[in-house]
Amino acid sequence: MGDRALAEQKDRALQAVDHFRSDKKLKEQAEALALSANKKDKERLQDWIHFFGLYQMSDEAKKLKYKIDVLESKIQNKLAKRKEGYIDPKTSKFVKASILKMRTLMQTSPDEKLRKACFAAREKLAESCLTEYVQLIKLRNQFAQAVGFADFFDYNLHREDKMSKEQLFGLFDEIADKTKGTFLELRKLEKKRPRLRKPWNFGYMMLGNFIEEEDPYFQFEEALDRWGRSFAGLGIDFKGGELTLDLLDREGKYSNGFCHWPKLVHFNAGKRSPGSANFTCNVVAGQVGSGSVGYRTLFHEGGHAAHFLNIEQQDVCLNHEYAPQTAAWSETQSMFIDTIMASYEWKARYAKNADGESYPFVLHERAVRATELLKPSRILSIAMVSAFERDIYELRNVTEENIKKVARKNHQKFTDLSESSLMLLNVPHIYSWESSCSYHGYGLAEIALSQWREYFYKKYGHIVDNSNVGKEMKRVWALGAKEDFMTCVKLATGKKLSTKAIIKELTQSADATLRNTKKIQKVMEGVKPSKKVNLKAAIKMVHGKKTITTNKNGFDKMSDKYGKWVRQMANESN
Ligand SMILES: [Zn+2]
Repeated sequence: MGDRALAEQKDRALQAVDHFRSDKKLKEQAEALALSANKKDKERLQDWIHFFGLYQMSDEAKKLKYKIDVLESKIQNKLAKRKEGYIDPKTSKFVKASILKMRTLMQTSPDEKLRKACFAAREKLAESCLTEYVQLIKLRNQFAQAVGFADFFDYNLHREDKMSKEQLFGLFDEIADKTKGTFLELRKLEKKRPRLRKPWNFGYMMLGNFIEEEDPYFQFEEALDRWGRSFAGLGIDFKGGELTLDLLDREGKYSNGFCHWPKLVHFNAGKRSPGSANFTCNVVAGQVGSGSVGYRTLFHEGGHAAHFLNIEQQDVCLNHEYAPQTAAWSETQSMFIDTIMASYEWKARYAKNADGESYPFVLHERAVRATELLKPSRILSIAMVSAFERDIYELRNVTEENIKKVARKNHQKFTDLSESSLMLLNVPHIYSWESSCSYHGYGLAEIALSQWREYFYKKYGHIVDNSNVGKEMKRVWALGAKEDFMTCVKLATGKKLSTKAIIKELTQSADATLRNTKKIQKVMEGVKPSKKVNLKAAIKMVHGKKTITTNKNGFDKMSDKYGKWVRQMANESN
């Protein structure tokens, strides 16, 4: 699928960007100008010198990068064309199913034999690009050494986050160490619930039926309205920018939510020109569980959009999503916003069913108690991918066997499941240049946003419908990539990044969590929602090339019309 002419246009544009940022002459020009510039201009030129410096490559490195690009394309091609599916345990016949679908089946199917069949199929798929992966690791390490680093992991970590491996894994190891009590609890629980720690049982047996029970409170036709009111309540706006949102799934649509910025915030002769952001998600209207995932993506990507449209830097090299901007800082913003929507504080006020009844506390209570032991698993699975990639690039002897050993060892260490697995080789990020050795960014973001949430609760007692929260966020958003991640965390939360807040959150008992929820609800009784939604943006709701509605005549009219269209789409597909 996809538009061929558009794809070619995109390749050309990417090439032009690459050419521009790796231009040696431009870097030298900035350096020469800086010699005689005044203090203020010198500082701005330093930002440009730093920016160009991040993308410079020797001829040797360029040649290696080209070889890597070719190999990565080959892997992507192989991944896209491989046969995916499982052997049906009843009929012994092959059933076509994507690797993502098999993951969902492992979490939701009540049939253990089927879940196990999906697990077995995924284990086999994990090995499908192993030969190429060996080559890729060797080439990437050669590249890193050509630009002066010990290995590829080291290169990425320094370049993106200005951190050492010791610093990063110091944080992750501390979290793993302080939360390992849950592994013991899970082993005890397995005595009562046999085979709980089998990889094909764990997710299914731990999560229960919450997705279905929650669904009536997350009807997607209400999503745009609730999203707009929540952002307005937080005092967040888009500073005169343009937004285009494409939220429903359709055939051939890219299968992951994302946000991008066709127009960056920039300055022309001192005058600010607002940016534009487009974002998408893959909601299947009317499908159980799809609504709440859609809400989450809408908040997450909306957070990314708000972050970059609120930048106030004169120099556009600081206003985009790539280095010197870091994934860690960008994800701190978007994940902070999506944790708002996942909180009971938000659900109690905004998540209502068709009869107008609010999300019940008893459901929240049951979910908190049932998932108490699962709390650390999110950050541990991030740390697991990072530790795996660190170990892989440190291997003296890179072979298929050694890679598999490292994959199994880390899986065992970070999950404590009772059967070893190669699932780490199914993580798509490890095969692509842009996302390999960058997974830790999500982990750093988790740590930072816990600290930020704690800061806001201590200061204000609540986050939902608190315009001070948006005001403070916008203050640091204005910086763009002017400061690095660690400095930004300090500026936002008043403290150095530490694991204190996240460890407290992850090790808190269910009772303590619920007491805390009640305390916040008490504060919320005195908090009024925002009356008017003015997001200071020209918003367009689209479905592919078709425009469904815009906010020309106000936000409410737009969300109303969009809601009706979503309902109609749900009816048509039923
Ligand atoms: Zn994101």
